[in-house]
Amino acid sequence: MSFFEKMKEGAAKAAEKAKETVEVTRLNAQIGAKKKEIEKLQQNIGELVYQSYLSKDADLESRTVSLCMQIADRYQDIAALELKIKEVKNEKVCVCGAELAADIRFCPSCGHQFEPKPAEPDKTAPVSALGSGKAEDDQ
Ligand SMILES: [Zn+2]
Repeated sequence: MSFFEKMKEGAAKAAEKAKETVEVTRLNAQIGAKKKEIEKLQQNIGELVYQSYLSKDADLESRTVSLCMQIADRYQDIAALELKIKEVKNEKVCVCGAELAADIRFCPSCGHQFEPKPAEPDKTAPVSALGSGKAEDDQ
């Protein structure tokens, strides 16, 4: 590879990294927004409980549960966004909790062996590339 080609490759990698950073920033902003929504819902619950206390509202529980479910939804969204960030950063999480590059085969901290194929099927990949023959022997 020529010096110029190496330079071009370096520039492409830098551009890729910048795109990755933008995407992670965008996802983190979404997580921040969800956390604000959770705070707001928690305030609503507090307000609701107090109003119910004042008015002896019998429907308190179902209304509180509904708000709690909305909060649980936000936490699910956040978990999904955090997973997306790992995907964008090309990371996976080991059973031991270590964060590793997606293409790594063995966890350096606990020795866990990963399946050769990616955990999530790539929709753009041709179907013929998947599930052809047996996976290579383990151990
Ligand atoms: Zn591990």
